[in-house]
Amino acid sequence: MAKGMVVIDVDRCKGCGLCTHVCPVDILALSTDSFNAKGYRHVIVTDEEKCIGCASCATICPDVVFTVYRRKRQRKAAAAKA
Ligand code: SF4
Ligand code: SF4
Repeated sequence: MAKGMVVIDVDRCKGCGLCTHVCPVDILALSTDSFNAKGYRHVIVTDEEKCIGCASCATICPDVVFTVYRRKRQRKAAAAKA
């Protein structure tokens, strides 16, 4: 299960590509076959399972396209009993 998840507001994207250079797991790309409402090639996530929820994409995006969710760490059963 992925550590993080991003929700993309597609129509805010202007296709600048900045986010595609900062994702540490290289799962962001610009679409090659679809355009958003503004006519831009927009960002897509190529492999949602690899997202680590680092929020680098949200930090660098000038257009507030990303909302990032991070999975809470599960406590180990042994630690919970102690
Ligand atoms: S949160 Fe991090 S890992 Fe996930 S898409 Fe954004 S930059 Fe990549
Ligand atoms: S940085 Fe933002 S505006 Fe630029 S391609 Fe990525 S999501 Fe789109």
